[in-house]
Amino acid sequence: MKTLQALTRPNIWRLQPYSSARDEYKGQAASVFLDANENPYNTPNNRYPDPLQWELKKNLGRLKHIEPEHIFLGNGSDEAIDLLFRAFCEPREDNVVAIDPTYGMYQVCADINEVEYRKVLLDDRFQFSAESLLRAADEHTKLIFLCSPNNPTGNDLDADEIDRLLRRFDGLVVLDEAYNDFSDAPSFLSRLDAYPNLIVLQTFSKAWGCAAIRLGMAFASADIIGILTKIKYPYNVNQLTQNQALEMLHRYYEIERWVDMLKKERGRLEQVFATLPCVTKVFPSDANFFLVRVTDAVRIYNYLVGEGIIVRNRHTVSLCGNCLRITVGTRMENDALVTALQKYKI
Ligand SMILES: *Cc1c(COP(=O)(O)O)cnc(C)c1O
Repeated sequence: MKTLQALTRPNIWRLQPYSSARDEYKGQAASVFLDANENPYNTPNNRYPDPLQWELKKNLGRLKHIEPEHIFLGNGSDEAIDLLFRAFCEPREDNVVAIDPTYGMYQVCADINEVEYRKVLLDDRFQFSAESLLRAADEHTKLIFLCSPNNPTGNDLDADEIDRLLRRFDGLVVLDEAYNDFSDAPSFLSRLDAYPNLIVLQTFSKAWGCAAIRLGMAFASADIIGILTKIKYPYNVNQLTQNQALEMLHRYYEIERWVDMLKKERGRLEQVFATLPCVTKVFPSDANFFLVRVTDAVRIYNYLVGEGIIVRNRHTVSLCGNCLRITVGTRMENDALVTALQKYKI
């Protein structure tokens, strides 16, 4: 790997971050807070939240077996993705490489930050090769984006190939594990120590059932986390979100139960879908959604909307012609979808 300084934009490397009132005050028990121009009334929401979310990181770290220094928390994973561009990619000069198809936010953030986005098509099993990603990269490639299980294809990426890429690429590899809770493949979190160029993204939006609170996680070396922390908004994760996340961390066993139910439902749905006349292929999934090829994606999508059922039309996405992406819902929701599709006339 290149040095972190060589990978970081010079202005970011030099940046002196904003120091908030609560950054300056550390330790020392105190009960009178007259430092941050807050209103003393309307507790408990009158105070600024902890800018570094220590309590939450400590509890999260215990669950994930990671030290808090290796954790960044943001307003959704989307914040971490955006900050990665802003920290490492010089607009109009640097570029990033990503698998295609994949999660749309990588390209949107690249476009917003005016960073060239290079796509490398997956193969017909929706797998990638480290070799082809490295071929697309050059000396201005700062980040390579992987997503496993991948969205919208649903499959895990080949772990040996991810290892190979981490060993051979001299920039940073961003591995988005938003759906890893639903997969039998182990997370790459345990390999952070082995790979200083690895950044793992996870989120509270999927298995944790907290899309509304907007909380994303990035795990990486303490130095990389330090850079993200330096450039984030001082109070990027609000107190209500921190409270709710702590509450959910104490109820982790419920998440395990949800994940088990959703995986069972996924298996059941995949079997039923294989028997539907309008379905031509069900792609195997390691996530809480699956991709299906149908006889006419646009027509079936519109038919389902008429039935009050919304799925994701992926017809225009690379390799996904005539494909719909189906999120696994409750038993009742899934049955409503199946009943509607059984009624549908091709
Ligand atoms: C849903 C999803 C996320 C989650 O984004 P948040 O901003 O944390 O809600 C991240 N990555 C992928 C691939 C996703 O599908």
